[in-house]
Amino acid sequence: MERKKLYIQTFGCQMNVQDSEKMAALLEGSGYDTTDDADLADLIILNTCSIREKAAQKIYSQLGRYHALKEQKPHLRIGVGGCLAQQWGERFFRRAPELDLVFGTHQIHRLPEIVGALEKEGERRVETDLCDRVHSLTIPAQPTAGAVSTFVTIMQGCDNFCAYCVVPYLRGREESRPMTEIIGEVEKLAERGIREVTLLGQNVNSYGQKGSDCRDFTDLLTAIGGVSGIERIRFTTSHPKDLSPRLIDCFGKVAPLCEHIHLPVQSGSDRILNAMNRGYTAEMYLEKVAALRHACPGISITSDVIVGFPGEEDADFEATLALMREVRFDNLFSFQYSEREGTAAAAMNRKVSAGVKRERLRILQDLQAVHTLERNRSSIGRTEAVLIEGPSKKESREVTGRTRGNRIVNFEGEKGLIGKTVFVRITEAFPHSLRGEMEAKGAADVH
Ligand code: SAM
Ligand code: SF4
Repeated sequence: MERKKLYIQTFGCQMNVQDSEKMAALLEGSGYDTTDDADLADLIILNTCSIREKAAQKIYSQLGRYHALKEQKPHLRIGVGGCLAQQWGERFFRRAPELDLVFGTHQIHRLPEIVGALEKEGERRVETDLCDRVHSLTIPAQPTAGAVSTFVTIMQGCDNFCAYCVVPYLRGREESRPMTEIIGEVEKLAERGIREVTLLGQNVNSYGQKGSDCRDFTDLLTAIGGVSGIERIRFTTSHPKDLSPRLIDCFGKVAPLCEHIHLPVQSGSDRILNAMNRGYTAEMYLEKVAALRHACPGISITSDVIVGFPGEEDADFEATLALMREVRFDNLFSFQYSEREGTAAAAMNRKVSAGVKRERLRILQDLQAVHTLERNRSSIGRTEAVLIEGPSKKESREVTGRTRGNRIVNFEGEKGLIGKTVFVRITEAFPHSLRGEMEAKGAADVH
């Protein structure tokens, strides 16, 4: 049978990137090879994101382009999966008449069956049931050949219901993956040459609270820390309210656990944090930061902030800037609040105007640029262990890698060193990366 071509376009978070890899692996068994060229595809899947309206708009405009392609190639089938598909369901066909398939976040494991039925019957399909179990959770990660680092999903869904967020509605309730299965996967990845794993979930530090054979997140970290060949462990995302003293203690105790945490604060104002349903105050957040820095001096701390949540006044925004000045984040992802259908915040009054949101974001990003550069500059003169991930994009004689604190470093080095950890003395700092000189040729044993 002649093989067909599959083109997947992924929008949004790392969870979607993982899901797309799983879709490709599943459909390989149904006769589809992936292609990087949409023009060659027999099936196009858009794995969508709905976290902010901007993400949704990008997807609608992309679908318009594929509509034109379908007019030239009538046998082409187009499907949408992921969060926006879960949210819109059948209604997606009204917006995008060229679509053949809409499938939700809990239907990925059924993709071969769904695509098979579409091919056989030729009728549009909608598959958006949310199930009690996320079956695709058990499908292993599919890192690209030669990769040094990969993500491993450890849990899915979210029970936190932050007032602005659609994730609990579109990804369903929290479910943790059994620990034995995760360890088995990490062992196989290490045998294939993976040196760094990032444990992935909407709220990783509530790992183990819901799901079979699950233990605490710190048990999982400790066990993965013992897998031979795994030099580095990271995790994302953790919720400040669930960051336990036991987990803080793991920094420094579990040798491969990197000195970096992404800990989204969202706002520095207690009034706004309360309205967001975040479950902590600014002071509690600062106490966690102090505990992290005590347990692990020099730890990199990155965060997410939303500006312009309903009711946010100048004083609330000032409180966010004050918190940023106190913490001095290594990096920050910042967003204008985007109203999402069905969330608690969508029903709140006192919306902030688009102009004010834009201006607050600009001020906040300018401040963060100062902090990021300041933190990057503090690395100059230090020697850092760098895991080399690949050739540098800009300089052919250079390679690129990351420090344990998650900073990108470019330096002169042979391509044969890719996958190895070497010591690099940092000589220059830029807004988004560092440059350095390798201290000694060959691999460094970093722990
Ligand atoms: N579970 C993670 C957490 O709690 O931080 C990540 C969730 S989300 C994929 C990533 C970030 O998007 C959030 O931390 C938040 O800052 C932002 N976000 C979520 N909903 C948003 C909205 N309606 N408007 C603007 N930003 C939003
Ligand atoms: Fe959304 Fe809050 Fe859950 Fe993160 S913790 S996914 S922001 S509801």
